[in-house]
Amino acid sequence: MIALLLLTAQILAPSQPAAEQAFAAAVSEAQLRRTVHDLVAAGPRMGGTPSGDQAAALLHDAFTRLGFATETFTDPPKLAHWEDAWKVTLGSGEVIESAWPYGYSASIAETSGPLLVVPNLASATPDAAWKGAVIYTPGDVVRAYAAIASNPNRPLAILTSAPNAPPRYLDWTRISELPARAGHPVPVFGVSYLDGRTLDAAAALKTTVRVSLTSHVDERPPKTVVATLPGRERGRYYLVCAHGDSDAGGPGADDNASGVATVLEIARVFAELRRTNVLPQLRYDIRFAVWGSEYHSSKAYIEREGARLGELAAVFNFDETGTGAEREALYFESNDVPWNAPLLKTLEAVAADYAGQPGFWTEYTTNPSQGGTDSYAFLPVTYHGTGTTTLEIPATTIYTAAWDRLASLKQTPGWASKGVADPVNLKIDYSLYYHSSGDTPENTTDREPQNMVKAVKVTGLALLRLNR
Ligand SMILES: [Zn+2]
Repeated sequence: MIALLLLTAQILAPSQPAAEQAFAAAVSEAQLRRTVHDLVAAGPRMGGTPSGDQAAALLHDAFTRLGFATETFTDPPKLAHWEDAWKVTLGSGEVIESAWPYGYSASIAETSGPLLVVPNLASATPDAAWKGAVIYTPGDVVRAYAAIASNPNRPLAILTSAPNAPPRYLDWTRISELPARAGHPVPVFGVSYLDGRTLDAAAALKTTVRVSLTSHVDERPPKTVVATLPGRERGRYYLVCAHGDSDAGGPGADDNASGVATVLEIARVFAELRRTNVLPQLRYDIRFAVWGSEYHSSKAYIEREGARLGELAAVFNFDETGTGAEREALYFESNDVPWNAPLLKTLEAVAADYAGQPGFWTEYTTNPSQGGTDSYAFLPVTYHGTGTTTLEIPATTIYTAAWDRLASLKQTPGWASKGVADPVNLKIDYSLYYHSSGDTPENTTDREPQNMVKAVKVTGLALLRLNR
């Protein structure tokens, strides 16, 4: 009799593995790719800029169409930069296609000047020959910039192929920015390594360069979109989030349209499975947030929530789920944070249960805190966090690449994972296109869309286990 009752109960409510299989089966790689394309088409989506506002409107619409109660928050204003158009052309007529303006560069009307090569800006002093010239340097500009910009012999513009280290940034351009303020008098353009070679050769032939840039620097409020999937009980919720801006000001397909697409797809699958009654209602709310500006908007959220932040059960943040240069791994960050243990043990267990199955992952691990993304807005300074809250909120970032080179990390004692070949000396994968003009869908998310699929599945399944 008892056995029969149990059997009936199991038929009425899908068993946990059945719910997990239904979730995994509903994840759409095509949808993930489409979201990245839609976001990248809007522009760099920096918080407070027209393309940032456009992306927020697009996401507000997408969540609303899925049936979520959705709110768009206007965050406190911050200095934003955006660039409408630019062109760098050699005297021969050859366009330097890879040119990409550094953030906070001022506009310049189309002007021409002689091309001058300065190998090391930091150790050079502007002389009369610099005045009205376009400088090309293979080296760093940002550190030398203030001295050059305040010199009466300052040039018209500066072009740089930094880090000038092939094959990195070979025919795509590393994007950086000047110190965040308006009124920098000399615009700076990054160029690819190969275009650096072209400029070097052209300078030897005493050529001129024509530059133009239309840019904006203005104090503007980023927009943050928050959508809620209601649970059965009040008083507690999970947060699933990603920064919506491409923090370098480039196309940002991997960093971080991939993370945003991951958030939206987790939301879409939960909405779909609830609508069709495949899943029972989850215990607590899940809140989906896309931050208008990395850190700035997640910190603003914490300030806005005040005492209600005590209801936050855990943070799943996504940053760079769209590529990986050398490995095929899923990473779950911040296992050195003691109160992250239940959250990360759940992710690790899901990863172990499905590893090697078709459509899932092979390599995975948790790893120590590295800092640099929105989960750290919820963590104390001890763990690379911002210390914005003193509450002990579990917070992780899930990703497939970080930074621009392979990192070696010593695993936190007690966290050896079955999911990597060397569980003690971790190799953290990176993006070849980190903060560059090459961070396009073609180079990242279209090439390895399975990365986003994995991030959606592992998180959805972990939420099914944690939030029942
Ligand atoms: Zn990022």
